Amino acid sequence: MLPVVALVGRPNVGKSTLFNRLTRTRDALVADFPGLTRDRKYGQANYDGYQFIVIDTGGINGDEEGIDLEMAGQSLQAITEADVVLFLVDARDGVTVADDAIAKHLRKQNKKTFVVCNKVDGIDAVAASADFYSLSLGEIYPIAAAHGRGVEQLLELTLGPLAEAYPEVLASNTETPASEDLAHDEIDYEALPLKLAIVGRPNVGKSTLINRILGEERVVVYDMPGTTRDSVYIPMQRDGREYILIDTAGVRRRGKIDETVEKFSVVKTLQAIEDANVVICVVDARETISDQDLNLIGYALNAGRSIVLAVNKWDGLRSDHKDEIKRELDRRLGFVDFARLHFISALHGTGVGNLFESVLEAYDSATRRINTAQLTKIMEMAQDEHQPPLVRGRRVKLKYAHAGGYNPPRVIIHGNQVEHLPGSYQRYLINYFRKAMRVMGTPIKIEFRESV
Ligand code: GDP
Ligand code: GDP
Repeated sequence: MLPVVALVGRPNVGKSTLFNRLTRTRDALVADFPGLTRDRKYGQANYDGYQFIVIDTGGINGDEEGIDLEMAGQSLQAITEADVVLFLVDARDGVTVADDAIAKHLRKQNKKTFVVCNKVDGIDAVAASADFYSLSLGEIYPIAAAHGRGVEQLLELTLGPLAEAYPEVLASNTETPASEDLAHDEIDYEALPLKLAIVGRPNVGKSTLINRILGEERVVVYDMPGTTRDSVYIPMQRDGREYILIDTAGVRRRGKIDETVEKFSVVKTLQAIEDANVVICVVDARETISDQDLNLIGYALNAGRSIVLAVNKWDGLRSDHKDEIKRELDRRLGFVDFARLHFISALHGTGVGNLFESVLEAYDSATRRINTAQLTKIMEMAQDEHQPPLVRGRRVKLKYAHAGGYNPPRVIIHGNQVEHLPGSYQRYLINYFRKAMRVMGTPIKIEFRESV
């Protein structure tokens, strides 16, 4: 499980700036899917060797006049479930009433909280920080998120202690070696149980879907203890294949433990996505696609998970209404057009069986082995059909390609000047590889290496 860091603070202190800095991938991964909203609220952070989940809690508004501290229920919950809270304040504004109100709330939470004094660029960091000791939350950590100053030290100091609890906090070099002797090749993916997470915002029908699936299948065992932010893992079989269903909806939760706790949890959902091979993202046909739907799908995409989209509650809709919904989905889900879209009714069971065909297809796409010769051939065909552009007067030359890992599939392309390839050509290559490799339901990533 990845540790979870929540960014808290009033508007304009620099939360999204820090968020963007933290979630920007280290490598020139081609993961910028056009249409995917930039200011996502949750992301996978990969910064200077640290790997964790970061949540911009957003919804805290300091009222000008005062104490009116309005926090959306889910932001509050994210704070409760996070391992670490980074409380951002603005060095240029000094302590505001809203800061005081937020601090008061945070002091009541028994949570590792660090006060981060942002925007110390061009001013005296020590003097600016001094003001914030009055928040009574301990040490002040000065940074300039916009310039990256102090961010590395901040992570070292705040996340360092976590590294013991979570070995993954330090992203051990996850790069697979640039050769074909990949450990992945030794893994028999078909024999492993397929971890399938069912995610979606509240009330889209996750519980109904899970009950439907379990009602049809033999449940081997279920019920594992855990905290509110843990999903329930349900081993099951279907058509002779082993699955582990990751239940974020708490259908089969032991006893009555947290009936009072809100059923839906962002942190739980993100951890489930991290842990899954394939994610079924459920949306509600009767509601318009929301930012939260898009954020969840975007998170799964950036985490490299295979995705199947399920539009639930497709029963009893008028046909013109259905057409309208389909147009809307086309428009908003363009960034994930490689994922199969299913129209289902969890309530009546319609279309549920077909979901599994796409789940298996996506899993197979994510883990199928492709050798260097094939990949290089595909790369050459792509290059022949559409020459790479000139960069600084010289033509970019792609030389060879090989697999850089699976789940999600990564293709490494070596060549000259490849690091300067414009995004449009990178996307062309991704689409070309996707079609040629017949990859469905999983994001594929291409990395470029400069040949020497
Ligand atoms: P949020 O509302 O807390 O998410 O704040 P934003 O990240 O949107 O930042 C608010 C404003 O502060 C923007 O204009 C940023 O460019 C600016 N800003 C963020 N970080 C820094 C910084 O380190 N130094 C300076 N000078 N400005 C910053
Ligand atoms: P969850 O919060 O995502 O687990 O959602 P639930 O499974 O609890 O479902 C929320 C509500 O939607 C319940 O009232 C369900 O009966 C209803 N629902 C779920 N699936 C369907 C469906 O396929 N069709 C219709 N019409 N209603 C559904």
